[in-house]
Amino acid sequence: MEQFDIGIIGGGPAGYTSALYYKKQGKSVVLFEKDEVGGTCLNRGCIPTKAFLHIADLYSELNGADKLGINFDNLNLDFEKVKEYKNNVVSKLRKGLELTLKNSGIIVIKEQAEITSKDRIKAGETEYCCKKIIVATGSKPKEIKGLEYNHKFILSSDDILELEHLPKSVLIVGSGAIGIEWARILSSFNVEVTIVELAQTLCPLADWEVSKRIERQFKMKKIKTYLACSVDKIEDKKVTLSNGEIVEPDCVLVAVGREANESKNDFNADVIGDASAEIMLAHYAVSQAKELVFDIPFNKKTVPSVIYGTPEIAWVGEVSKSKEEDEKYDKSMLLISALGKAHCDNNIDGFIKILSKDGKIKGASIVSKEASSLIQQIAIAMDNDITVKDLKKTCFAHPTYSEGIQEVIMGL
Ligand SMILES: Cc1cc2nc3c(=O)[nH]c(=O)nc-3n(C[C@H](O)[C@H](O)[C@H](O)COP(=O)(O)OP(=O)(O)OC[C@H]3O[C@@H](n4cnc5c(N)ncnc54)[C@H](O)[C@@H]3O)c2cc1C
Repeated sequence: MEQFDIGIIGGGPAGYTSALYYKKQGKSVVLFEKDEVGGTCLNRGCIPTKAFLHIADLYSELNGADKLGINFDNLNLDFEKVKEYKNNVVSKLRKGLELTLKNSGIIVIKEQAEITSKDRIKAGETEYCCKKIIVATGSKPKEIKGLEYNHKFILSSDDILELEHLPKSVLIVGSGAIGIEWARILSSFNVEVTIVELAQTLCPLADWEVSKRIERQFKMKKIKTYLACSVDKIEDKKVTLSNGEIVEPDCVLVAVGREANESKNDFNADVIGDASAEIMLAHYAVSQAKELVFDIPFNKKTVPSVIYGTPEIAWVGEVSKSKEEDEKYDKSMLLISALGKAHCDNNIDGFIKILSKDGKIKGASIVSKEASSLIQQIAIAMDNDITVKDLKKTCFAHPTYSEGIQEVIMGL
């Protein structure tokens, strides 16, 4: 029987990152993946949606490009090619990852695997002896009663990636990151989008001012929004909402979250990534891998959340749910339109909001181009207890969006 120091089930970000880190420590590693390495993130999640979003944003920008002095005839979208681009991005990155794993000497077994004892993994007919076992089996789209996926009319986030043609209209259930990103993609492609959210606000986990801003942006994009509303039933492609209205979209995207894949783990193996059912984000999975392999703990309260598209939306730490709640903090805020760089980029919609207490940052919410990178500045400050006073000492380059962070810090 083959012997390994480490056996990892699941080849997504949690699995492949820990595999590479263990290998760096000189351990022998076997990684089991029943589908494709890269997991949800690379094959069905972060990467393909961001490839679509890139084209959606570019297409939107080109649609208004005459104001920037760029004129052309017949701007149109070839959806076949858009999908080809997305597929190429995914396959290029997947090949790169396969090569990295191979070159590092990690043995990848392309089989479904299960733990059979505290140091045994079975895949196919073969058993492997592994001194330490890690479960990184990921998650799948959550299914809710009455909205079971039939993969034709009622779609999951996996199905929507494989659309053959663009629908004329879509109803999106749920306004978390996946719902918002797909609303942005499809509406940029001129699909009529309706979004139904059970909570009182769009993107209910975000700061109240972020939710309001998205609501305004959606209104401008003519995305129809139903808040405090749910789907009562679907019959013959007619969707009855809890407010009694009937919507007849070409398809329904259910984006109500994900649930951990069940996997047998009677032997107390370490569980990381989405399978741990904690924060289901790729960077959280990677940090769990760092923590597990190198014993580098990380602050679970400063895990950034990002929603992509134009403008990006990001937050870290505490968020305020109302104007009244804002008053519990020292609050400083800047409209992105105050920044020269934003005007140069023709991207003036958004704001930076920082909440602090006793001279320390408690949380930040950013709606802006580059928000995904800007938020990291705040996360580093929070994780390292850097005070507002200390941050004021830093010189920020001009013209940048980071200057906005400087302005907001100076306002505290
Ligand atoms: C549409 C969408 C967009 C997303 N966008 C973002 C984003 O922008 N940023 C972000 O941080 N996160 C994003 N996510 C979430 C992110 O994809 C996940 O958090 C991340 O993939 C979790 O990594 P993981 O390794 O835990 O699990 P996964 O990536 O799900 O990988 C688990 C792997 O295990 C394999 N597996 C399962 N069971 C077995 C078994 N028994 N034997 C062998 N193999 C097995 C699966 O085939 C899979 O490849 C998105 C998700 C979706 C669906």
